[in-house]
Amino acid sequence: MKKSFCCAFLLLTLGFQSHCFSQNMERVKTVIATLSSKQLHGRSPAFEGDRKASTYIESLFRDASLQPVGQSFLQHFSYDTQIFPKKMSLTINGKKLQPGVDFIIDPVSASGKGKAEILYLDSTHFLKTNNRVIPDCKNKAVVFDQKYYARLNELPLEVIQNIYSAACIIEYNHSKLTMSIASKPLSVPFFKLGTVDITSLKSGKCSFQLTSEWKKNYQSQNIVGMIKGSIQPDSFIVFSAHYDHLGHLGKKTYFPGANDNASGISMLNELAHYYSDSLHKPAYSILFIAFGAEEAGLIGSNYFTQHPTVSLKQIKFLLNMDIVGTGDESITVVNGTEYPIQFNRLDSLNKVNRLFPAVVKRGKAANSDHYFFTQKGVPAFFIYTNGKQKAYHDVFDKAETLPLSKYKELFTLFTLFAKTL
Ligand SMILES: [Zn+2]
Repeated sequence: MKKSFCCAFLLLTLGFQSHCFSQNMERVKTVIATLSSKQLHGRSPAFEGDRKASTYIESLFRDASLQPVGQSFLQHFSYDTQIFPKKMSLTINGKKLQPGVDFIIDPVSASGKGKAEILYLDSTHFLKTNNRVIPDCKNKAVVFDQKYYARLNELPLEVIQNIYSAACIIEYNHSKLTMSIASKPLSVPFFKLGTVDITSLKSGKCSFQLTSEWKKNYQSQNIVGMIKGSIQPDSFIVFSAHYDHLGHLGKKTYFPGANDNASGISMLNELAHYYSDSLHKPAYSILFIAFGAEEAGLIGSNYFTQHPTVSLKQIKFLLNMDIVGTGDESITVVNGTEYPIQFNRLDSLNKVNRLFPAVVKRGKAANSDHYFFTQKGVPAFFIYTNGKQKAYHDVFDKAETLPLSKYKELFTLFTLFAKTL
């Protein structure tokens, strides 16, 4: 009797827990799917996807009962960037290649359109010695191995000028295609191919079209919300995540950025709901910041540290989350070696509660929005998850395939760790 009662009770509790959890995970999935959707265009200046994303995040902050620090949730800033939202095509020897899958473009690429004869350059063309052969690259589609591009700057100016006189440059890679953003345009269209059969690139013809759009002083924004602390409202714990991503590659192809970093924004949203609940009212104030223009060079977070809406000295600790949709292997803590006491606490919490197989520490790195805070002396960790799903800065980083395998565990670790601060 007692035993069966226990089992019934246990089932009830488990059922209740999984019900609560599934409700939260429904919200998590909705937020990630919305941010990664076609309608938000990869959250860059392309089709104003970043602005649409920030409007959505502001509505999430309001729904979670966050307050603005001043008059507005938005902190505006501007920057220069290059986008590629228009028609894009590349055909080599009759084979039409697919943007995002077969090729990406170098972020410094210029606009261009045309047909050109392929000129294949090999190692002999990149020799540092004077017996190097330099064919005339003018109006050719110059093709070379990605490893030679790094050597280009070591060559005499006339060689570089010759290569840049090409109709377009096509570089081929031996690893996966990883897109990024740049703010300075080059003078020539620049395509990057994924792993290909090189023989098909050694001669023949190619046709191409690409338009780069230069955005000067493009206005973007951070979204900042807060919950007032009940005991020490003048001290802040900050949870942060960037919401921008890589935008478009041509008219149709966009980068969804589900793991990077819709997963982090959704975690911010879950934390905002948790601390807004009167049951979990925090002792310190909590600031939630969704940063813009991270991918273009940590621009939003850099701006915030130069124009902080609360004094940086009032920040007890910042937890930045960027790429948190896996975790079945481990989590990594950037700045773990800089703040050993806090790292050991985090590591112990993980071990006691058996959340992740491993917590890995790293030193300082300028790889996400914690960086400029660290430079200004604000104690901070940047945490990312590691798992089997490896899509990164490519068109495969989709909401549908993001495992969210340890999402609940990461939420638990954040809330437990925040209690120790
Ligand atoms: Zn990111």
